[in-house]
Amino acid sequence: MIRVRGLTKRFGATTVLDGIDLDIADGERVVVIGPSGTGKSTLLRCLNFLDRPDAGSIEVGDVRVDAAKAGRRDILALRRATAFVFQNYALFANMTAQENIMEALVTVQGRSRAEAGRIARDVLAETGLADKAGSYPAALSGGQQQRVGIGRAMAIGAELMLFDEPTSALDPEWVGEVLDLMRRVAEQRQTMLIVTHEMQFAREIADRVLFMEGGRIVEDGPPDRVLDAPEDPRLRQFLRRVS
Ligand code: ADP
Ligand code: MG
Repeated sequence: MIRVRGLTKRFGATTVLDGIDLDIADGERVVVIGPSGTGKSTLLRCLNFLDRPDAGSIEVGDVRVDAAKAGRRDILALRRATAFVFQNYALFANMTAQENIMEALVTVQGRSRAEAGRIARDVLAETGLADKAGSYPAALSGGQQQRVGIGRAMAIGAELMLFDEPTSALDPEWVGEVLDLMRRVAEQRQTMLIVTHEMQFAREIADRVLFMEGGRIVEDGPPDRVLDAPEDPRLRQFLRRVS
């Protein structure tokens, strides 16, 4: 169970997250949509303290972090409970696919290199990249790099996986294989919070869709209501533009 209360983030004088409240049940898949610059990435980044929120609280399973008081230990615990998949993959260029997946297992989880290697090879097999274990990111297609990015998040075994527009940097030919892998992750009843503009995918995978605007959640409901029978005029306008 994930419970977010009053999550607030300012950059200078601009309030980018304006007191977000959000509950996500175990195994739930929640898709976030909304115009550019509306705080979607900042929400995900604050949920694992890539950006430090100014106020509010975050609970993921047993971990409870109060933004105002969070220390190093709290932040590490939250990072263990959440895993992030980045728009631009954010792989380490000087590490192979396998080493990229092993990195957090060794440095954050304190596992031995032997154990991390075993986990990484299992994940690479699951993502269909067993033969790319020794390849560096530059030798992989965009789709393969993002599958490594997702594999890295899967390997952590986090309660919550955060996906920030995982296909929007990809050439169209690689989008399908990345969405397929995300479907497979979803089948494992992994709790997922996904920012995406892939509306068809959202309809298919989401238990709930959130529409964000101006640092707030404006709509929150099942996809057939939010995407097919939107009430808020800003949401209607947004959907006209993206579809
Ligand atoms: P979205 O992902 O919905 O496009 P973001 O969360 O990336 O939106 O950004 C929301 C707002 O916060 C934007 O106005 C953006 O310019 C601003 N912003 C994001 N990150 C920073 C930062 N590190 N410093 C200053 N402003 C930022
Ligand atoms: Mg963004």
